[in-house]
Amino acid sequence: MKNTNTSNICDLLERLSTLFRNEVRQAGLSHGLHPVHLEVLFYLNRCNKFSDTPAAVRDFLGTTKGTTSQSITLLENKGYVIKTKDSHDKRVFHLSLTESGKAIAEQTMPPTSLRSALERCTDNENNSLKLQLENLLADMQIETSSTAFGLCQTCIYHLPKSQTLFLCQLTQQTLPKKFGELICREHQIKAVNE
Ligand code: SF4
Repeated sequence: MKNTNTSNICDLLERLSTLFRNEVRQAGLSHGLHPVHLEVLFYLNRCNKFSDTPAAVRDFLGTTKGTTSQSITLLENKGYVIKTKDSHDKRVFHLSLTESGKAIAEQTMPPTSLRSALERCTDNENNSLKLQLENLLADMQIETSSTAFGLCQTCIYHLPKSQTLFLCQLTQQTLPKKFGELICREHQIKAVNE
C-alpha cells in the first residue's frame, strides 16, 4: 500500500534542497563563482586520493566533459585549484584545492542556515536525522544502481584495523582513520541496516 507520507516528505525534501541551493548560489556570487564552480570546490574538499581526477569530478556532478573542464580551468585561473600529474600515469591529472579554494569551500558549505539549524538540535536529534538520511540515500542508490561516491567509512571494503587505521580491501592499502571520512568514487554501499 502506498505510504501517505510520501508526497509530504517529497515536498519537504524539495523545499529544503531549493533553500539549500539558493543560499549556496548567493554565497558563490560574492566570490564571482557559479553554483557549478562551488560544487567542484565542495567535491574536491571532500574526496579522497582515488577520486580527485577531472573524470571523477564530472561523474560526481553529472556534468558534461566540456562544462567540467571549463569549470576546472576557471578555478585554476582564479588560483583555487591546482592540477598535478599522476606519478605513475602521465596522462592522468589529480586536482587539489589551494588554501584560498579550501577557505571558500569551508566558508560556504554547509550553508549558514543549515549549520545554525543543526546546531540548535540535540546530539540525539542529529544522530537520528543522520541515520534516517543515510538509510534513505543508501536505498535510493541501490534502487538507481548509483552506489559509487559514498563516504569511505560506509563502504563494504572498509575494514577497521585499529583505533587509527583501516584497510581498504579493494586497493589493499592501509589508510588513516581520517581518510574514512572522505568521498570515494570506488565506494560500494553496504546493505541498509547491515
Ligand atoms: S574502502 Fe571503499 S570507499 Fe574506502 S577507499 Fe576503499 S574502495 Fe574507496
